[in-house]
Parts: sequence; C-alpha cells; structure tokens
Amino acid sequence: MSRAVPILMYHAVGPHPAKAAYGLSVSPEAFAGQMEVLGERGFTPLTTAELAAAWRSGGPLPRRPVLITFDDGYEGVHRYALPVLAKHGFAATLFVSTGWLRGAYEEGGALDTMLDWEQVRELAAAGTEIGGHTHTHPQMDQLDDARLAFESVRCRDVIEAETGRAPVSFAYPYGYSSRRVRRAVRAAGFAQALAVGNALARRRQGPYALERVTVRRSTGIEEFARLAEGRGIGRSFAADRVLTKGYALVRRTRRAGASLVRTRT
Ligand SMILES: [Zn+2]
Repeated sequence: MSRAVPILMYHAVGPHPAKAAYGLSVSPEAFAGQMEVLGERGFTPLTTAELAAAWRSGGPLPRRPVLITFDDGYEGVHRYALPVLAKHGFAATLFVSTGWLRGAYEEGGALDTMLDWEQVRELAAAGTEIGGHTHTHPQMDQLDDARLAFESVRCRDVIEAETGRAPVSFAYPYGYSSRRVRRAVRAAGFAQALAVGNALARRRQGPYALERVTVRRSTGIEEFARLAEGRGIGRSFAADRVLTKGYALVRRTRRAGASLVRTRT
C-alpha cells in the first residue's frame, strides 16, 4: 500500500476571479474538463480523511485513487465546482480559512468573494470533507507559539460550531510547515495535514506532510492529464522551484533582521 497518490490542489473556481486569486484559479469549463479526464481514466476521488485512514491502517485503496482539494474557501467552489463533483459522484476536500469566510467570524483579508457557512454546510452535506486552513491565513512557521496555537484551535472550533463536525484534516497556508507547526496542528486535534511540494503523495511522507500538486489557470488539459497520471511533474514546476527557493531566501534574510530586502512576494 505504498503507492503514490496525486493530491490536486485548487483554489478559486470562476470565470472572472479577482486579480490576486487569478493565477491559482481555474475556469468553470477547465474544471469540468479536468473532472471528465479523471472520470474517463478511471480515477476514484477520495477525501483526505479516507486516504489517511487507509494509509494509517494499511487498508485497501481503490484502483487509481486521487484527491481533489480546494484551499481558502472561495465561493466559486460552491457555485461552479459542486455541481460538477455531484454529477460525477466525486468526493473532495475543502480547506477553509475560517476568518476569511463571510459571516460571523469574518476578519477580512480574503483575496476574493468567499463562501458563507450555509454554502459550506451544503458542500459538507454533498459529501465534501471540510478541513482547516487556519483562521487568518498566516505563514504559520513565522508565528510565535501562542499565535500558532490560536490559528489552529480557533479554526478547528469555528468549523465544528458551524458544521457540527470537528475537522480532522488540515492544509498549511502557502504549504509552509516545520516540526513546531506540525506539532501545533496535531495538538489542535487534526489527524493529517497537506503541504505543497508539487509531487505525488506517498505514505512515507507521514500524515502531517503529504505533498500536493498545484492546478492553476495556465494548466492545459494535456498537462492536467499528465499531472494526474504522475508523469513529468518536475518539468511542470521547475520554474516554481526556483521561485520558491528565492522566496525562502528572502524570508530568511528578513528574519535575520536585514531591512534592505524589499522584494515583493
Ligand atoms: Zn490558502
């Protein structure tokens, strides 16, 4: 049971996402086409909890398992993705930043129009797992211990209050984690968490560092099929790797107190 599983990472789904959300968005037509590809090729979408449970117990996985995940909680996931998922009978996971969603817990800062809690409940009722993605979407590895605990626990509590179910899966904003971050997420009651490595997920990565593959506006249907099949992933994200390394360097320099680095990220 050590086979590799593609975990697809989506953000906004919509025809005209806000500029800040555009690059990592997909159009409704592209999303529908991508789900067709998964269906045609015999993939079986699972929730994050289902994959983690199978890997924890050594239980069986279906032929060609895949995970469909959405980060942040954009309204288009309800409006455009849910009908497509329902048509195929596909499971998915939605990772919400609870302070970004519209309603009683809203703190502002979201990049685009977000879901409200009624829509989240409708997604949950349709079989979408609701997972956590912090409260205010910070870079978790930059937080002190108290704030780190708050971001994990508050997110968990709000989801439980609004859906009636405590979330068990988590996704790190920006994919950043560290041993300290993973420990805080675990202490808040999450049993597994997803990163972003642009690689297939494997059991040996451990339940708190499962890798995902980014799907974005520029992902063509041929490239999507390759990613789902696990072929040529390194090639697709070679440029991103350079960017990520550059960004990590900027962050390290900032932390060291250098004030000369003003690179926009
Ligand atoms: Zn996010």
